Amino acid sequence: MFARTGPHELRYLFIDFNAYFASVEQHDEPALRGRPVIVTPLKSEYSGAIAASYEAKALGISRGTSVAEARRLCPDIAVRPARHDRYVAIHKELMVEIERHIPVEQVCSIDECLCELDRTETTRLAAEAKARDIKRGIARNIGPMLKASIGLSTSPLLAKLASELVKPDGLTLIDNSMLPDALVDLPLRAIPGIGEGVETRLARAGVNDFTGLWKLQPKQARALWGSVEGERFYYGLHGYDIRRETPAAKRMIGHSRVLSGEYRRSDGARIVARALILKAASRLRYYDLHAGAMHFTAKLASGIALGHEAVFRPTQNSWRFLRELDAFWPQIMDVVRSSDGANAELKLVSCYLHDLRAEPPPLDLFVSREEDARDARQAALWCCIDDLNRRYRKQAVVLSSQYGLDLNYLGVKIAFSRVPEAAEFEC
Ligand SMILES: [Mg+2]
Repeated sequence: MFARTGPHELRYLFIDFNAYFASVEQHDEPALRGRPVIVTPLKSEYSGAIAASYEAKALGISRGTSVAEARRLCPDIAVRPARHDRYVAIHKELMVEIERHIPVEQVCSIDECLCELDRTETTRLAAEAKARDIKRGIARNIGPMLKASIGLSTSPLLAKLASELVKPDGLTLIDNSMLPDALVDLPLRAIPGIGEGVETRLARAGVNDFTGLWKLQPKQARALWGSVEGERFYYGLHGYDIRRETPAAKRMIGHSRVLSGEYRRSDGARIVARALILKAASRLRYYDLHAGAMHFTAKLASGIALGHEAVFRPTQNSWRFLRELDAFWPQIMDVVRSSDGANAELKLVSCYLHDLRAEPPPLDLFVSREEDARDARQAALWCCIDDLNRRYRKQAVVLSSQYGLDLNYLGVKIAFSRVPEAAEFEC
């Protein structure tokens, strides 16, 4: 059912920021650096800590400690009410910085994200160098207080668990030859995917520690979880790269975006759609893949959904993808024009490149060499643009229609209306 990657082939890099809210407070207020700090949900002496700096943790203060108890343990402690808008703003800056080094595959919570290494980065040496680059970039361009623990491994689950092993500022690698020894001391509830219910069922089956968990067979895991999730968990834990082998993850690169404000009008929606295509194309080139098809979807507020599937000669050329959108856009405009009022607004656009392949297309009797050469030249130009945008923090080169749009952030999904909990990890 699932194919396995090479036993030492590192695929994933997981970044977990340490004591994130407290670190942002220390970042913004230099007088707090090196001091015990807690962050509380409200400006009240009767609340409890939702984050504690490492200086506070050393005194036995952690998430959940009441303000009164924290003051008893450390009369000098700095107590700061949470500033969620600020945590989200710094989060966005961090994601932009990380994307200079590696594409962010999934934002798991406000202080955690999963990234995918490219095929030149799968050795210990290259993967660790990439992780150190990210740490250096964050320290230099955002600030030295925002430390992260980075885990490197063969599956998203193991990369996440590796990031948990050394804090703060860790860099930990787990490859399949180190299992299960590297994780035998891990309590079961510290593993994403094991909640109270699963823990109870595991205990009933006699599994109370990591060694027992490790020995489970896929079918047993499936039965204990009560769904295919158990089997997925088994493969993730044993270092199988399920995401890559799942058709949806392996064969598509793309993004979707729920539109708001000015972007719900057709001209605004078109700018976002183009940005999604450009971002997907940039990631395609990052992985050195070629796409032979693109699927585009637009949903209107009226509930009408319009889809377009384009098939073409495999390419890395962003212009090719944009041309497909241009060819389809008049159909969207027809529907928009025939709708009235709020129904004419667009609610969502999404774009996926698929039919991905590692090799450029072979020569084709019906395609002139000039045509192929032109496509390759344009793709090479886009590779240069990718390099410039990666090297400089801001979007150094953008199409004029995209100017001012937060392109780097498109496609990254995070709930802005609330602060996600670390437990929301769902890779
Ligand atoms: Mg964290």
